[in-house]
Amino acid sequence: MMDTPNTASTFDVEALRGQFPALQQTVNGKPLVYLDNAATTQKPLCVIDAVNQFYRLDNANIHRGVHALSARATEHYEAAREQIRHSLNAAAVEEIVFVRGTTEAINLVAASFGQRLKAGDEILISALEHHANIVPWHMLRERIGIVLKVIPVTDLGALDLSALPALITSRTRLVAVNHVSNALGTINPVQEICAQAHAHGVPVLVDGAQGLPHGLVDVQAMGCDFYAMSGHKAFGPSGVGALYARRPWLDELPPYQGGGDMIETVCFDAVRYAPPPAKFEAGTPNIEGAIGLKAALAWHAGLDWPSITAYEAQLLAAATAGLKEIPGLRIIGTAACKVPVVSFVIAGCHPHDIGTLLDAMGIAVRTGQHCAMPVLAQLGAPSGTVRASFAFYNNTDEVTALIRAVHRAHALLS
Ligand code: PMP
Repeated sequence: MMDTPNTASTFDVEALRGQFPALQQTVNGKPLVYLDNAATTQKPLCVIDAVNQFYRLDNANIHRGVHALSARATEHYEAAREQIRHSLNAAAVEEIVFVRGTTEAINLVAASFGQRLKAGDEILISALEHHANIVPWHMLRERIGIVLKVIPVTDLGALDLSALPALITSRTRLVAVNHVSNALGTINPVQEICAQAHAHGVPVLVDGAQGLPHGLVDVQAMGCDFYAMSGHKAFGPSGVGALYARRPWLDELPPYQGGGDMIETVCFDAVRYAPPPAKFEAGTPNIEGAIGLKAALAWHAGLDWPSITAYEAQLLAAATAGLKEIPGLRIIGTAACKVPVVSFVIAGCHPHDIGTLLDAMGIAVRTGQHCAMPVLAQLGAPSGTVRASFAFYNNTDEVTALIRAVHRAHALLS
């Protein structure tokens, strides 16, 4: 995934943009320049139509009905699970658990895997993590006294893997790292981390929230034990995502929540749980979300990824080069391997003020700590950054508009 290209891109961005109604609007009297894709992506028409079609024709609860609509809804829902399996290249459809998104996927593992842990057991995360991959482990530390260890990050915002051998000990029970950093855009060497952890018999959870939006994912090639993803980051609906877990884990781990749909039999003295993945899916799920996610991932799988990767690298290079020219501007996160995310600060200008001025010019960026306080504090941006996060539907005119707007904001604020 996401190798740095050396060929010119032939990718037709304008044809692709046409599939995104939200991109065709003006904001504050200016054409919208949407550069907040790491927070959430816009949705193509095929996703909007799939959700619309479900509500118009197929709406029913799944798994429990004998009637036609319930059978249809169940069929679509289970087809969505198969699409996720395909998009992650999981070995079996039973390895895909529907969840609300990456946050819930990590909380599921922390709650369920956490039941095996004792005081003094170690969980190894990295300094580059989103709060979603810090706080659930912190909660386990509070509850049972596990020890949280941290792979350090270099000043460029890359993981310092030279520290890894000393950090994996006989007490390490799990390594949990992100695939791609939302705050800086760094692509992490997750395959290498999985190999090193597995050499010590330690399983690995990968927070994949920012992985699929920028490429194809292959959990078998990566070698991870768990992979968490969010639909809304990958051009699908909000409130739906998936946890991939290798089958032996799903057989072994206890359920996360109890309720309907996750059981085989219930009496007042005993409950027999359903086999995975149902065992981890208590209650009525986000059926329409799953159906929208299926449409998003089927569309995503059909894209020309080698060209998109080359194109995204061009966007990143152009935005980085242009922004660097602005006096006092410092890019936070300059690792060699990045997705098109540019996080920056400008001396003497508060990120929120820059963001507000950009919004007035029709440009949507995110400002603040991006749920990654530790790494921003380490890299000297404790008050946060301005983050422009691109998707492949952004074009070079938008890069130019961003650079011009940041110049103007800087002039107005200094
Ligand atoms: N991890 C990373 C790297 C993220 O970027 C995000 C979302 N910003 C999350 C976890 C949490 O995802 P969600 O809010 O969709 O659960």
